[in-house]
Amino acid sequence: MKDKVVWITGASSGIGAACAIELSRLGAKIILSARRKEKLEEIQSGLSGPSEILILDVTKADEIQPVAKKAGTFYGPIDILINNAGISQRGLVEETELAVDRRLFEVNYFGNIALTKAVLPSMLERKTGNLVIISSVAGKLSTPGRSSYAATKHALQGFYDALRAEVTDRGVEVNVICPGYIKTDISIHALNARGEKHGVMDAGQASGMSADTCAKQIVKAIQNHKREVLIGGKETKNVLVRRLFPGLYHKMIAKMAKERRY
Ligand code: NDP
Repeated sequence: MKDKVVWITGASSGIGAACAIELSRLGAKIILSARRKEKLEEIQSGLSGPSEILILDVTKADEIQPVAKKAGTFYGPIDILINNAGISQRGLVEETELAVDRRLFEVNYFGNIALTKAVLPSMLERKTGNLVIISSVAGKLSTPGRSSYAATKHALQGFYDALRAEVTDRGVEVNVICPGYIKTDISIHALNARGEKHGVMDAGQASGMSADTCAKQIVKAIQNHKREVLIGGKETKNVLVRRLFPGLYHKMIAKMAKERRY
């Protein structure tokens, strides 16, 4: 990672911030992006090496290209893009306003792929680069109360499987990361059915893997050229349950819905 130029979105908290700290420790040059400047400054003050802050709202489509251009002026072209910015959701389908579903897609899917499209040409031209996509276990399975969140992450899986195939043997790698429960503020920032902040630290997150451990495993996945990796505790096993025992899986999540565990 020494001297690699790494651009991280959603770097103002949680997994993105932990990735910044870990990669900086390993000698990378870090570009931190998110909307909250003061939080980014806080994270930047704890980094071990060179870093820059680039304020970015990933839903502002017309800002993506100019900001990506600016990112390339700090230390040269981007070697690694960690496409991490994201929001979660808590709400039943029947109660959730369509605007909330659209918001989830604007942040988690369109924001993500817009950034990829902005840095991809330079990576292809230089025949090198990593596109690191923070998807989720929810990209592999759905649970009640998180319909659109799961849909955005499934969409990322589909998009990046296609892109990976397109860039195979052209020097660019696509590393899709699927975390389970990670102890961050994601549930606090999640949107409820009306688009307001859920504002609660959910039990899954509270007892989840630390963001630091998750970040270390993300770095390892990049170093080991992993196409895809699951990171987390026993909840990640449900991906196999879904694949091998679909009947059992659907019973499990129907029970969760009945007991209003979401
Ligand atoms: P946090 O809520 O702590 O971090 C989310 C980050 O995304 C923040 O830095 C936030 O910054 C940024 N963000 C949100 N909206 C926007 C936007 N419109 N434009 C730019 N940045 C934005 O949660 P996590 O660290 O947990 O989440 C990071 C990623 O990990 C997400 O993609 C999430 O889906 C994924 N993930 C998390 C899991 C978990 O259990 N924690 C499990 C599986 C996946 P700001 O508000 O300053 O803009």
